[in-house]
Amino acid sequence: MEQSDKPIQIIAVAITVPLRRLFEYRMPAAYPISPEPGMRVSVPFGKSTKIGFIDAVINKTDTNTTRTDTTETQPEIELSQLKEINSILDETPLINPSLINLYRWMHQYYHAPCGEIWQTMLPTALIKGKAEKYTRSSRWIITQEGIVALESDKIAKSAVKQRLILEQLIKTSEGIQHDQISDYDIAYSRLKTLAGKKWIAREYTQQSSIDVESICNLPSSIQLNQQQQQAIHAVELSLKQYQTFLLFGVTASGKTEVYLRLIQKVLEQQNQALVLVPEIGLTPQTLKRFQQRFNTEIVLLHSGMSEQQRLQSWLKAKNGEAQIIIGTRSALFVPLKRPGIIIIDEEHDQSFRQQQGFRYSARDVAMVRANIEKIPVLLGSASPSLESLMNVSKQKIIRLDLTEKAQTSASLDYHIIDLKNQPVNQGLSIPLISAIKKHLKQQGQILLFLNRRGYAPVLLCHQCGWSSHCQRCDIHFTYHHNNHYLQCHHCGSNRRAPEQCPQCQCKEMIPVGLGTERLQETVQQLFPDARIARIDRDTTRRKSAMQDFVTSVHAGQLDILIGTQMLAKGHHFPDVTLVGLVDMDGALYSADFRAPEYAAQLITQVSGRAGRADRKGEVLIQTHHADHPMLHQIIHSGYADFAQYALEERVETELPPSFFSAVFQAESPQLPHVKQFLTEVRQLLDRYSDLKVSLMGPAPAVYVKKAGKFRYQLFLQTASRNELHQLLKLTLVDIEKLKSANRVRWRLEMDPVGDS
Ligand code: ADP
Ligand code: ZN
Ligand code: ZN
Repeated sequence: MEQSDKPIQIIAVAITVPLRRLFEYRMPAAYPISPEPGMRVSVPFGKSTKIGFIDAVINKTDTNTTRTDTTETQPEIELSQLKEINSILDETPLINPSLINLYRWMHQYYHAPCGEIWQTMLPTALIKGKAEKYTRSSRWIITQEGIVALESDKIAKSAVKQRLILEQLIKTSEGIQHDQISDYDIAYSRLKTLAGKKWIAREYTQQSSIDVESICNLPSSIQLNQQQQQAIHAVELSLKQYQTFLLFGVTASGKTEVYLRLIQKVLEQQNQALVLVPEIGLTPQTLKRFQQRFNTEIVLLHSGMSEQQRLQSWLKAKNGEAQIIIGTRSALFVPLKRPGIIIIDEEHDQSFRQQQGFRYSARDVAMVRANIEKIPVLLGSASPSLESLMNVSKQKIIRLDLTEKAQTSASLDYHIIDLKNQPVNQGLSIPLISAIKKHLKQQGQILLFLNRRGYAPVLLCHQCGWSSHCQRCDIHFTYHHNNHYLQCHHCGSNRRAPEQCPQCQCKEMIPVGLGTERLQETVQQLFPDARIARIDRDTTRRKSAMQDFVTSVHAGQLDILIGTQMLAKGHHFPDVTLVGLVDMDGALYSADFRAPEYAAQLITQVSGRAGRADRKGEVLIQTHHADHPMLHQIIHSGYADFAQYALEERVETELPPSFFSAVFQAESPQLPHVKQFLTEVRQLLDRYSDLKVSLMGPAPAVYVKKAGKFRYQLFLQTASRNELHQLLKLTLVDIEKLKSANRVRWRLEMDPVGDS
């Protein structure tokens, strides 16, 4: 019988639910699109409809089963019981086979639910089921008639908004990109009205073929030094194959210049460059530098953009129209028509680690992706991660050094200020105050770094000792003086600060400890004539705020900058001559074994802001732990020596990156549920004690309570990554089935960093 020989198509679909398995569906007979991995489907799921992602296509006949891959699905179900899909949403797969391979690798390596992974890989608009529709770029410009109308006052008095738009357009020679009109607060309907009057016009960008000759505007002023040439040469030799390089260059040694030269080579080969930068580093400054250099389409991809803008950038990368893609962590998954190179700037930055949902390291995944696509990866930093340095010693990464600043030989003087037994005025020691005075007099800019926003970390009652406390997290509320409120920096909850003690009604409430608001107040009192700005998350909520600060710094309109680590990243402040690290104690006394590494990176980055120009820079570090070995290594022999020593220590103490680790973390408002689940997980893992994986816990997480939930963890540690994977593969199915798993929120994290 012909009918029964016809293969029945089953598709395995990844759906966004916290389960590690796929769901099988039948294809309706004679469906017009043939299913392929990487397409989206709409499927019935329970009582609702969900959008899923085809993971595999399985052809079943009565006699044989052929699968296109080996991903596990649910146990055999009678074919007749499978539901049919509703529809396939795409005519072709959204992502190419390389990215599908990457998806499979991530599924294997991170042991994460498939749905969570594809949700991370695709732009939100596509996850929600929007069409993969590419709109050609266009911009709005003012016409000659428009200019005349504006100048001759032809516009109705009441049409204030229309006038504003014309004024805005006349200011910009290149007009306003259509996909940015909302950034300018312009309504599309008004543009249409103005276009109807012929006062403005919409111009569609011509897609010109790439002209290799004129792709780049090389500055004549820069003669590459020998180290830069060597670095460029080394990477250039690998442009068509996989190899990861670490460009270890001090701040301002010309790393970006090396990136630009390599991108030029990539573009000349008609290929695309993907550049990842830290969240905060994605400043207009970076973009401007790239735009000035290249006459080619550059697109951005970051969370500050709208869903539609991101989708359009994604599509331009996919269809090859964009030659350079600059983005933050998640831009790593953008499809590239002709991949050429992946560059990760400030590779040590913690923003390259996703800390929500599907947790992955963009650095590690970039290396895997590049390996699949046969292209090089270039990691750059003045303070590389120990992970990358370890890979250098294992010869998985080639290290390239830039040891000198490119434009200046001005050096940095470091001083450690031992706070023990010193008089301290609201966090400022006398040597730091005198240094500020001196640099103000010499008209140098000053940067004071304190990684704690708000006024004070505690508000307490002078009479009875009551203190402001977030009960959901078991930590103190931070007191914010400006709007007189308390905020938990952990769960974000906030309330008005009490005028009097809730316990004894005493009116004397005292803020204890130091935050950036208070530091600003103190500095202003000490230096009433200085122009001071505070740069932290509270003062940079507005979209353009950070850029406005940077502009004022460059224009010399500010003398003292006070800020959190936002200030430490990526910005070039050539006139800063003094950097003060107001409080390094938190970092030096932390229980996290990575704290010294992070602190060393921070000191390197923050002090890199000073001494860029020809003037000598000074760095003052205040601490009660003045004899901490890390401080002395950084100051006397530099980050490289510190890192070498720290790596040896990690090997001796069997900690990452020398050892491999994973963690099960669970949380719930009910402490016993959390403990029970992790205890049962441990019992399941203990069954395979022949595998050489040590288990630690269940134990409380560093922050044992957050937003009303108790948090515990179970650590896995091993010298053998394979055995760790084997153990997880053997147990995860059973762990998911535990009854106690339904009473908690839990996750498994590979190569975890810190507690979050
Ligand atoms: P990094 O990325 O390491 O901080 P940059 O590439 O931004 O360093 O370089 C710092 C400054 O030095 C920039 O203004 C850059 O244009 C300039 N520069 C880079 N290389 C050279 C060179 N070989 N000669 C002169 N100036 C250079
Ligand atoms: Zn009281
Ligand atoms: Zn809280």
